[in-house]
Formats: sequence, C-alpha cells, structure tokens
Amino acid sequence: MGRRKVQCKYYNRVLSGGVWRLKQHLARIKGEVELCSRVSSEVRIQFCQYMKENETSKTNITRRHQEIREELSAPPRRSVDEIHLSRGRQTIDLDDDEEEQFRRASQASRRSFKEEDHL
Ligand SMILES: [Zn+2]
Repeated sequence: MGRRKVQCKYYNRVLSGGVWRLKQHLARIKGEVELCSRVSSEVRIQFCQYMKENETSKTNITRRHQEIREELSAPPRRSVDEIHLSRGRQTIDLDDDEEEQFRRASQASRRSFKEEDHL
C-alpha cells in the first residue's frame, strides 16, 4: 500500500516506487531501478543535476520535506512538468490516466515519506 507506480515512456515500463525511482531511472543513477537505456543524454544530464541538487540538501531533511511538500501542493499539471523537467510534454508523454494516477499517488505519498528516506 502506498507504493507509487510511474511509467517511463522511453522504456515502456512501469516502475514501482514512485517518481524518485523514475528520476533515478532517467538520470541513470545506480539505485534500485533498472537504468533507462533510451533516455537522451540531454535529458539524462538534466536529471543528474536535479538529483545532485537533491543530494546536497539531503542533510537537511526538514528542508527536503518542505521542498517535496511544495512540489506536491503545486497544481498537478505544473508538478508533472517540473518533475520531468520538460518544456511541453515531449520528454515523457504522460497520458491522462497516468496523470490521474500521479495525482492520487502524490496524495498517497504524504504517508510514505519515511519510506522514501531510505532510498
Ligand atoms: Zn526509461
């Protein structure tokens, strides 16, 4: 319960564990996910930078949680775009069902922050 699922359109594959895993997948940072073999290097680098910024603020967990909360409280469309670091919807084209899924997952994830801290 509470495990989020996200889909990478490059890979045509659903990852369980939520957006954070998708970021690892796309940034091709070694984690608990398979690395994306189709993401363009441009997108990958964007994700890498994003992950590193997150990494540096990890020591301040309160701040990180605040960032996540801000992310979650943003309008769905905006948070989806931010997370995928895309202008328009070219990088990962989430369809409406997935957006709805993401929205619900975002709400559910408020309860799974503790879990995510172990990632
Ligand atoms: Zn992928």
